[in-house]
Amino acid sequence: MGTFSFKCTNCGKLIGARDEWNGKQSVCPYCGKTVLIVKPVEGGGEAAGPPDQVQEWPGAPVNVRVSSELATKALYYALFSFFCCAFVSPFALLYGFRALEEIKNSEGRLSGRGTAITAIILAIISILAMCGNMVFSIFKLQPQINQLTF
Ligand SMILES: [Zn+2]
Repeated sequence: MGTFSFKCTNCGKLIGARDEWNGKQSVCPYCGKTVLIVKPVEGGGEAAGPPDQVQEWPGAPVNVRVSSELATKALYYALFSFFCCAFVSPFALLYGFRALEEIKNSEGRLSGRGTAITAIILAIISILAMCGNMVFSIFKLQPQINQLTF
C-alpha cells in the first residue's frame, strides 16, 4: 500500500496519508480541524514537499464523523423557542426530523442524532409549555370575565 502527502486545507501543513485513506475525512494532526484527505493528482501544481516536512500520522482517525449541520440548526431553534419565543418551535421540529433523516441516510458519516433528538424534545416541550400558558391565562382571566358579564 502506498502513501502520499497532501496539504491541510485549513493550515496548509503537509500531512502524510495512506492511499486507502483517500477521500475520507479525518482530523488534521497540526490544527485539529476536520480535513478531507485528497490524494494530489500526479504532476499537479500542489507538489508534495520533501519527506522530512511530512509528519507521520499513525492511526489517523479516518472514521471521524462530521456532525450534522441540520441537527445543530435544529438545536439552535429549539433553544430559542424554549427560552425566547415558542413560535419558532415548528422550525426546530422540521430541522430536527430532517437531521434525523440525513443522519440515517449518511451511512454513519454524520453524527448528531442525540442533538437532533434533544432539539425535537425541546421543541415539543416549548409547544406544550406555550399551550399550558395559554390555558392557564384563560383560567386566570375567567373570574374577571365572569365579573364583567354578571
Ligand atoms: Zn491543519
